[in-house]
Amino acid sequence: MKIYTCFPEGKAKALTMSYDDGKIQDERLVGIFNKYGIKGTFNINYGLMEKEQTPPRLSRSRIAELYKGHEVATHTMTHPTIERCPLTGVAEEILEDRKGLEGLLGAPVRGHAYPNGSYSEEIKQLFRQLGVAYARVVPSVADYELPKDPLEWHPTCHHNDPELMKKAQFFADFGKKQYLKLMYVWGHSYEFDNNNNWEVIEKFCEFMGGREDIWYATNIEIIDYMDAAKRLQFTADNTKVFNPSFQSVWLEVDDKYYVEAKGGCLTDLKKCGEQ
Ligand SMILES: [Zn+2]
Repeated sequence: MKIYTCFPEGKAKALTMSYDDGKIQDERLVGIFNKYGIKGTFNINYGLMEKEQTPPRLSRSRIAELYKGHEVATHTMTHPTIERCPLTGVAEEILEDRKGLEGLLGAPVRGHAYPNGSYSEEIKQLFRQLGVAYARVVPSVADYELPKDPLEWHPTCHHNDPELMKKAQFFADFGKKQYLKLMYVWGHSYEFDNNNNWEVIEKFCEFMGGREDIWYATNIEIIDYMDAAKRLQFTADNTKVFNPSFQSVWLEVDDKYYVEAKGGCLTDLKKCGEQ
Protein backbone atom coordinates (compact mmCIF):
# COMPACT_ATOMS: atom_id res chain seq x y z
CA MET A 1 0.00 0.00 0.00
CA LYS A 2 1.15 3.53 -0.71
CA ILE A 3 0.91 5.68 2.38
CA TYR A 4 1.41 9.44 2.46
CA THR A 5 1.41 11.65 5.56
CA CYS A 6 -1.09 14.49 5.25
CA PHE A 7 -1.87 17.54 7.33
CA PRO A 8 -5.14 17.40 9.32
CA GLU A 9 -8.26 16.45 7.33
CA GLY A 10 -6.06 15.17 4.51
CA LYS A 11 -4.79 18.63 3.54
CA ALA A 12 -1.41 19.12 1.86
CA LYS A 13 -0.86 22.86 2.51
CA ALA A 14 -0.40 24.84 5.71
CA LEU A 15 -0.15 28.56 6.44
CA THR A 16 1.48 29.99 9.53
CA MET A 17 2.39 33.51 10.70
CA SER A 18 5.06 34.66 13.15
CA TYR A 19 5.13 38.13 14.76
CA ASP A 20 7.70 39.46 17.20
CA ASP A 21 8.07 41.70 20.23
CA GLY A 22 4.48 41.83 21.53
CA LYS A 23 3.87 45.54 20.91
CA ILE A 24 0.37 47.00 21.25
CA GLN A 25 -0.21 46.81 17.48
CA ASP A 26 -0.62 43.05 18.00
CA GLU A 27 -4.16 43.91 19.18
CA ARG A 28 -5.12 45.00 15.68
CA LEU A 29 -3.14 42.22 13.99
CA VAL A 30 -4.76 39.47 16.07
CA GLY A 31 -8.14 41.00 15.21
CA ILE A 32 -7.33 40.63 11.48
CA PHE A 33 -6.06 37.04 11.92
CA ASN A 34 -9.21 36.11 13.87
CA LYS A 35 -11.47 37.70 11.27
CA TYR A 36 -10.04 35.47 8.53
CA GLY A 37 -9.36 32.33 10.59
CA ILE A 38 -5.58 32.65 10.30
CA LYS A 39 -3.32 31.40 13.08
CA GLY A 40 -0.15 32.99 14.31
CA THR A 41 2.72 32.65 16.72
CA PHE A 42 3.70 35.66 18.83
CA ASN A 43 7.24 35.89 20.14
CA ILE A 44 7.38 37.80 23.40
CA ASN A 45 10.10 39.24 25.66
CA TYR A 46 8.69 38.77 29.15
CA GLY A 47 11.36 40.99 30.70
CA LEU A 48 10.49 44.02 28.54
CA MET A 49 6.73 43.95 28.96
CA GLU A 50 6.35 46.41 31.81
CA LYS A 51 9.14 48.71 30.58
CA GLU A 52 8.35 52.08 29.03
CA GLN A 53 8.93 51.98 25.29
CA THR A 54 7.73 53.48 22.06
CA PRO A 55 5.53 51.93 20.83
CA PRO A 56 4.52 50.36 24.14
CA ARG A 57 4.41 46.63 24.68
CA LEU A 58 1.28 44.78 25.72
CA SER A 59 0.81 44.43 29.46
CA ARG A 60 1.30 41.05 31.03
CA SER A 61 -2.35 40.86 32.04
CA ARG A 62 -3.42 41.02 28.37
CA ILE A 63 -1.37 38.09 27.01
CA ALA A 64 -3.53 35.06 27.81
CA GLU A 65 -6.73 36.60 26.51
CA LEU A 66 -5.42 38.38 23.40
CA TYR A 67 -3.48 35.42 22.02
CA LYS A 68 -6.17 32.81 22.72
CA GLY A 69 -6.21 30.32 19.83
CA HIS A 70 -2.73 31.44 18.76
CA GLU A 71 0.69 30.54 20.12
CA VAL A 72 2.85 32.53 22.51
CA ALA A 73 6.56 31.75 22.08
CA THR A 74 9.80 32.95 23.63
CA HIS A 75 11.96 35.73 22.22
CA THR A 76 14.31 35.89 25.28
CA MET A 77 13.76 38.07 28.36
CA THR A 78 15.48 41.23 27.10
CA HIS A 79 16.12 40.81 23.34
CA PRO A 80 19.95 40.61 23.29
CA THR A 81 21.99 39.57 20.25
CA ILE A 82 22.59 36.19 21.85
CA GLU A 83 25.50 35.05 19.69
CA ARG A 84 27.57 37.73 21.47
CA CYS A 85 26.55 36.65 24.98
CA PRO A 86 28.02 34.02 27.34
CA LEU A 87 26.03 30.78 27.02
CA THR A 88 24.99 30.74 30.69
CA GLY A 89 23.41 34.14 30.18
CA VAL A 90 21.65 32.88 27.07
CA ALA A 91 20.28 29.93 29.06
CA GLU A 92 18.95 32.34 31.67
CA GLU A 93 17.40 34.57 28.99
CA ILE A 94 15.40 31.60 27.68
CA LEU A 95 14.46 29.96 30.95
CA GLU A 96 13.36 33.21 32.59
CA ASP A 97 11.31 34.13 29.50
CA ARG A 98 9.74 30.68 29.51
CA LYS A 99 8.93 30.84 33.22
CA GLY A 100 7.41 34.29 32.96
CA LEU A 101 5.25 33.51 29.91
CA GLU A 102 4.26 30.11 31.27
CA GLY A 103 3.17 31.83 34.48
CA LEU A 104 0.83 34.04 32.44
CA LEU A 105 -0.50 31.20 30.27
CA GLY A 106 -0.48 28.28 32.67
CA ALA A 107 0.93 26.00 29.96
CA PRO A 108 4.32 25.04 28.47
CA VAL A 109 5.89 27.55 26.06
CA ARG A 110 8.17 25.70 23.65
CA GLY A 111 8.64 27.89 20.56
CA HIS A 112 11.18 30.58 19.85
CA ALA A 113 12.22 33.29 17.39
CA TYR A 114 15.88 34.33 17.64
CA PRO A 115 16.04 38.03 18.67
CA ASN A 116 17.90 40.07 16.04
CA GLY A 117 18.09 36.79 14.10
CA SER A 118 21.19 35.83 16.08
CA TYR A 119 22.18 32.23 16.84
CA SER A 120 24.98 29.68 16.56
CA GLU A 121 25.41 25.89 16.58
CA GLU A 122 26.07 26.02 20.36
CA ILE A 123 22.90 28.04 20.95
CA LYS A 124 20.84 25.58 18.90
CA GLN A 125 22.19 22.72 21.00
CA LEU A 126 21.55 24.59 24.22
CA PHE A 127 17.99 25.50 23.22
CA ARG A 128 17.14 21.87 22.46
CA GLN A 129 18.26 20.99 25.97
CA LEU A 130 16.18 23.81 27.43
CA GLY A 131 12.97 22.47 25.90
CA VAL A 132 12.81 24.70 22.82
CA ALA A 133 11.10 22.68 20.08
CA TYR A 134 11.84 25.06 17.20
CA ALA A 135 13.35 28.48 16.53
CA ARG A 136 12.79 30.89 13.64
CA VAL A 137 15.68 32.57 11.82
CA VAL A 138 15.52 35.76 9.74
CA PRO A 139 16.62 34.93 6.16
CA SER A 140 13.64 34.07 3.96
CA VAL A 141 13.64 31.19 1.50
CA ALA A 142 10.61 30.86 -0.73
CA ASP A 143 10.80 27.07 -1.03
CA TYR A 144 7.46 26.48 0.79
CA GLU A 145 9.10 23.57 2.64
CA LEU A 146 8.69 22.22 6.15
CA PRO A 147 11.80 22.91 8.25
CA LYS A 148 14.57 20.35 7.84
CA ASP A 149 16.10 21.62 11.09
CA PRO A 150 13.36 23.04 13.36
CA LEU A 151 15.99 25.01 15.32
CA GLU A 152 16.76 26.86 12.09
CA TRP A 153 13.28 27.38 10.70
CA HIS A 154 13.37 29.92 7.91
CA PRO A 155 10.24 31.80 6.85
CA THR A 156 8.93 31.98 3.28
CA CYS A 157 8.94 35.78 3.35
CA HIS A 158 8.50 38.93 5.41
CA HIS A 159 5.15 40.70 4.91
CA ASN A 160 7.10 43.61 3.35
CA ASP A 161 8.20 41.40 0.47
CA PRO A 162 7.03 43.29 -2.65
CA GLU A 163 6.04 39.90 -4.05
CA LEU A 164 3.93 38.89 -1.04
CA MET A 165 0.70 38.64 -3.03
CA LYS A 166 2.44 36.90 -5.91
CA LYS A 167 3.74 34.31 -3.43
CA ALA A 168 0.26 34.04 -1.89
CA GLN A 169 -1.23 33.44 -5.33
CA PHE A 170 1.37 30.76 -6.12
CA PHE A 171 0.65 29.04 -2.84
CA ALA A 172 -3.13 29.25 -3.26
CA ASP A 173 -2.87 27.82 -6.79
CA PHE A 174 -0.44 25.05 -5.85
CA GLY A 175 -2.38 21.83 -6.33
CA LYS A 176 0.17 19.02 -6.49
CA LYS A 177 -0.71 16.82 -3.55
CA GLN A 178 2.46 14.70 -3.67
CA TYR A 179 4.14 17.41 -1.54
CA LEU A 180 3.41 18.86 1.87
CA LYS A 181 3.76 22.61 1.45
CA LEU A 182 4.03 25.43 3.94
CA MET A 183 3.79 29.19 3.62
CA TYR A 184 5.36 31.03 6.56
CA VAL A 185 5.10 34.83 6.85
CA TRP A 186 6.77 36.91 9.56
CA GLY A 187 7.17 40.50 10.72
CA HIS A 188 6.37 42.99 13.49
CA SER A 189 2.87 44.42 13.83
CA TYR A 190 4.21 47.92 14.59
CA GLU A 191 5.69 48.00 11.07
CA PHE A 192 2.14 48.43 9.74
CA ASP A 193 1.78 51.64 11.77
CA ASN A 194 5.28 52.84 10.88
CA ASN A 195 4.66 52.32 7.17
CA ASN A 196 0.98 53.16 7.33
CA ASN A 197 0.17 50.01 5.35
CA TRP A 198 -2.24 47.84 7.34
CA GLU A 199 -3.93 47.07 4.02
CA VAL A 200 -0.98 44.79 3.19
CA ILE A 201 -1.86 42.29 5.89
CA GLU A 202 -5.62 42.81 5.59
CA LYS A 203 -5.44 42.01 1.87
CA PHE A 204 -3.18 39.01 2.42
CA CYS A 205 -5.38 37.51 5.13
CA GLU A 206 -8.56 38.13 3.17
CA PHE A 207 -7.04 36.36 0.16
CA MET A 208 -5.55 33.44 2.08
CA GLY A 209 -8.28 32.88 4.67
CA GLY A 210 -11.26 30.53 4.44
CA ARG A 211 -9.72 28.01 2.03
CA GLU A 212 -10.67 24.38 2.43
CA ASP A 213 -7.33 23.02 1.23
CA ILE A 214 -5.21 25.02 3.70
CA TRP A 215 -4.49 24.10 7.31
CA TYR A 216 -4.22 27.29 9.39
CA ALA A 217 -1.80 26.48 12.17
CA THR A 218 0.53 28.02 14.71
CA ASN A 219 4.24 27.17 14.48
CA ILE A 220 4.12 24.69 17.35
CA GLU A 221 1.02 22.95 15.99
CA ILE A 222 2.98 22.15 12.82
CA ILE A 223 5.99 20.87 14.79
CA ASP A 224 3.83 18.75 17.11
CA TYR A 225 1.78 17.35 14.26
CA MET A 226 4.84 16.32 12.23
CA ASP A 227 6.35 14.76 15.38
CA ALA A 228 3.18 12.74 15.89
CA ALA A 229 3.37 11.63 12.24
CA LYS A 230 6.96 10.48 12.77
CA ARG A 231 5.94 8.41 15.77
CA LEU A 232 3.36 6.33 13.84
CA GLN A 233 4.10 2.61 14.02
CA PHE A 234 3.25 0.74 10.81
CA THR A 235 3.12 -3.01 10.25
CA ALA A 236 5.75 -4.09 7.70
CA ASP A 237 3.07 -4.48 5.01
CA ASN A 238 1.71 -0.97 5.79
CA THR A 239 -1.84 -2.22 6.30
CA LYS A 240 -2.13 -1.30 9.96
CA VAL A 241 -0.88 1.63 11.96
CA PHE A 242 -0.71 2.33 15.67
CA ASN A 243 -0.66 5.98 16.72
CA PRO A 244 0.98 6.25 20.16
CA SER A 245 0.41 10.03 20.37
CA PHE A 246 -2.57 11.85 21.82
CA GLN A 247 -3.47 13.63 18.59
CA SER A 248 -4.81 12.26 15.29
CA VAL A 249 -2.62 11.97 12.19
CA TRP A 250 -4.14 11.87 8.69
CA LEU A 251 -2.87 9.54 5.98
CA GLU A 252 -3.60 9.22 2.29
CA VAL A 253 -3.84 5.60 1.14
CA ASP A 254 -3.16 4.47 -2.44
CA ASP A 255 -4.05 7.96 -3.77
CA LYS A 256 -7.67 7.01 -3.10
CA TYR A 257 -8.83 7.80 0.38
CA TYR A 258 -7.88 9.54 3.60
CA VAL A 259 -7.67 7.90 6.99
CA GLU A 260 -7.61 9.55 10.39
CA ALA A 261 -5.26 7.51 12.59
CA LYS A 262 -6.62 8.47 15.97
CA GLY A 263 -4.36 8.90 18.97
CA GLY A 264 -3.90 5.78 21.10
CA CYS A 265 -5.59 3.56 18.47
CA LEU A 266 -4.65 0.80 16.06
CA THR A 267 -6.13 1.59 12.64
CA ASP A 268 -6.70 -0.91 9.85
CA LEU A 269 -5.91 1.08 6.73
CA LYS A 270 -7.38 -1.53 4.38
CA LYS A 271 -10.70 -1.69 6.16
CA CYS A 272 -10.98 2.08 6.07
CA GLY A 273 -10.91 1.86 2.26
CA GLU A 274 -13.70 -0.72 2.18
CA GLN A 275 -16.14 1.42 4.12
ZN1 LIG B 1 12.39 41.04 18.16
